[in-house]
Amino acid sequence: MVTIKSKYEIEKMREACRIANLAQKAVEKAIKPGISTLELDKIAEKTMRDNGAIPAEKGYPSGVKGVPDFPGSICASVNDVIIHGIPSSKEIIKDGDIISIDLVAYKNGFNGDCCRTYVVGNISAEAQRLIDVTKQSFFEGMKYARKGYRLGDISHAIGEYVRKNGFDVIKEFEGHGIGREMHEEPGIPNSGKPGRGIRLQPGMTLAVEPMVVAGSPEIWQADDGWTIFTQDGNLSAHYENTILITEKEPEILTLA
Ligand code: MG
Repeated sequence: MVTIKSKYEIEKMREACRIANLAQKAVEKAIKPGISTLELDKIAEKTMRDNGAIPAEKGYPSGVKGVPDFPGSICASVNDVIIHGIPSSKEIIKDGDIISIDLVAYKNGFNGDCCRTYVVGNISAEAQRLIDVTKQSFFEGMKYARKGYRLGDISHAIGEYVRKNGFDVIKEFEGHGIGREMHEEPGIPNSGKPGRGIRLQPGMTLAVEPMVVAGSPEIWQADDGWTIFTQDGNLSAHYENTILITEKEPEILTLA
């Protein structure tokens, strides 16, 4: 079921999302060659806890027998890791890397979810273009994230923009409704047919998150049961915000 949030619930969502964005800013400031992904994880966790939130990804169940719950406070996905990279003291980021930080702050019963792909030092022009196209594809989707349009209009706008720019989206993972649960209905694919899917209504809160690859969209999962790589080793970027559908423009809660 797709939930429509009340005014009260929207206020709680705003607060969780505000803290998620604060955690992103703290991580962004700390990113430099030589820092480990675990150090970035600790910075995000401290920012959330200092603001009365907890990192909702920590302990998130894998749902798969034999695969432990997610150990990190963030997902830290470097270069050809698309999503769900596990923070580690052994993983040191270096000049020329790109790193996606996906995090969820949970406070007062509600979740705020966002992801950014950051640059480490000097990167190639093509890597920068991948990051820029990924971010812009989210905003292309936002043109349709309003009352009267359908979910497929958002998906279509994202996928078309990405492909027009020579990149591709992955199909196995998608955006999602969000609220009391990190993952609620509906699923929001990053590609699709316009005019299809549920009609958007004020009060819906959605996590829209293009996951874009520079090469083939085939994915590969590491033996840890979490980390998702591009199969061909090409770069991947990810950009996400939690948004609120309103009577007019969408409100981008994790950018406020
Ligand atoms: Mg996320």
